[in-house]
Amino acid sequence: MDEFEIIRRYFSRPTSDRQIRIGVGDDGAVLSPPAGSELISVVDTQVAGVHFPRDLGAADIGYRSVAVNLSDIAAMGGRPHWMTLALTLPDACAKPDWLQDFANGLFECCDTFGVSLVGGDTTSGTELVVSVQLMGSVAAGAAITRSGGKPGDLIFVTGTPGDAAAGLHLHQNGETHDAAQVLFNRFRRPEPRVTVGEMLVSLASAAIDVSDGLFADLGKMLHASRVAGQIEVQKLPASGAILALFDRDRRIRFALSGGDDYELCFTVAPKLRRGVIALQEATGIPVSEIGSVSSGAGLVCTDGGEVMDFSDEGFLHFS
Ligand code: ADP
Ligand code: MG
Repeated sequence: MDEFEIIRRYFSRPTSDRQIRIGVGDDGAVLSPPAGSELISVVDTQVAGVHFPRDLGAADIGYRSVAVNLSDIAAMGGRPHWMTLALTLPDACAKPDWLQDFANGLFECCDTFGVSLVGGDTTSGTELVVSVQLMGSVAAGAAITRSGGKPGDLIFVTGTPGDAAAGLHLHQNGETHDAAQVLFNRFRRPEPRVTVGEMLVSLASAAIDVSDGLFADLGKMLHASRVAGQIEVQKLPASGAILALFDRDRRIRFALSGGDDYELCFTVAPKLRRGVIALQEATGIPVSEIGSVSSGAGLVCTDGGEVMDFSDEGFLHFS
């Protein structure tokens, strides 16, 4: 199968999106963003053995590669529309079974969130590399940034951060029981918080998606906002599965420094707290208040009000 056959068989689908004037098949895609909106563009590259274990199923790799980008769009408050896909395939993946599974997972995520594939690039190589670039839109001037947090704001996080890292850890130790599967599913199939992100446009002063660990990513947001923050570890939300399998210390460590959660962490002015409760009720997605913003710099963790000795840089490449 040559690259054109691969593109034709697995990555060309009819689309009903009228905003796509030209999609897969020409030299470039031609797209018309909704009137009055601005374009948000994000890209994320997943390398086998670096971003996911080599034994991860093709459908999961496909699904995740879209989901992690949707999470970045969500953190900006955007609505996702279009993506391009740059694929580097080793021989083991350039086979019908693998490609069909990969495309199924990828399009499952696309269909769930209303995303169309409008182009890409397909090459052979020694390592599987999946790079997705995603474009979304937001009302002009309304994008949420990392830099808008203010002293006095409350800090919130969606879902139960730490599950994905705990699940990956269990998977790598060969654990396959039910609770381990529940947690590993959080790694295999992240749930990008797109609906929450869109609703945060009118609520959040700043937002970031948690991909490298809550402590590191919240630290980045506070730094960009030129403020300090405090989180109380007793307020960190925890899933039943992680509570069942790990002691308190390890659970807190996973929550603060485990990566791959793709939850949203955001700041909200105290007078808008009720809006966050309404958002939670409307979406059914748990949102937890975990701390607050103050003037100054840095992020501290407290345990029952006592400052903890915790520092973590998150996942860093080239270090
Ligand atoms: P060019 O040589 O002009 O860069 P290609 O021959 O690489 O174009 O690609 C042909 C068409 O197929 C283009 O429209 C491109 O966007 C699309 N394409 C290539 N790879 C993929 C892919 N993995 N998924 C979707 N579309 C793809
Ligand atoms: Mg060309």
